[in-house]
Amino acid sequence: MTIAHNIETIRRDLPASVKLMAVSKQVSVVQMRAAYAAGIRDFGESRIQEAQTKQQELSDLSDICWHLIGHLQGNKVRKAVQIFDWIHSVDSLKLLQQIDRVAGELAKNPQICLQVKILPDPDKYGWTIPELLADLPQINCCEFIKIRGLMAIPPLGLTIEQTQELFESARDLSHQIAQQSGLQLPMTELSMGMSGDYRSAIAAGATIIRLGSIIFGARAYI
Ligand SMILES: *Cc1c(COP(=O)(O)O)cnc(C)c1O
Repeated sequence: MTIAHNIETIRRDLPASVKLMAVSKQVSVVQMRAAYAAGIRDFGESRIQEAQTKQQELSDLSDICWHLIGHLQGNKVRKAVQIFDWIHSVDSLKLLQQIDRVAGELAKNPQICLQVKILPDPDKYGWTIPELLADLPQINCCEFIKIRGLMAIPPLGLTIEQTQELFESARDLSHQIAQQSGLQLPMTELSMGMSGDYRSAIAAGATIIRLGSIIFGARAYI
């Protein structure tokens, strides 16, 4: 199947409220151009260096919105803020505050999702729910970043029902945060849903789905 065909098939039953991000890690710029030609404008990358190389090679496509979806190390924050429009994988208060400070220095306003671990998961980064709730007042003090919502990734090995419940918990948490009095944290985006579970994510209220292999084919690694 071609990339254009895959995108068209996914789009066919996608609600208008859901943004389709093409996850292009390990994908060539030739394949990315095919996705662009099929209408994709949002691309997700998990590594800074790879994204930077691709941005140079795709510099003629000036309306691409670049999303960072992989763990960000403190020493790469400056580069990340320079080259990404969105950072979905902000997973600690310390990192968030560092991004905010650098954003101020660079006069940038990156769009941010807070990565939350709804269930315990030793393989993933992110705030647990109690940690996130405790950090909200300080998160609310950031000046330059634009907090847009939450990002959630289910642990491996859940059933469809458990995955659905996890996505619903993420949605409920985002509502709970948005309603906290005294905070000005808009929680309009829910970044959740990958190739294997995006329908459950949409059913639970996802607004951004991050699809890789279902568009581009299997990758060598996660
Ligand atoms: C790789 C990756 C995806 C895409 O995964 P697929 O299963 O190929 O759709 C989505 N989100 C994150 C955070 C990823 O690392």
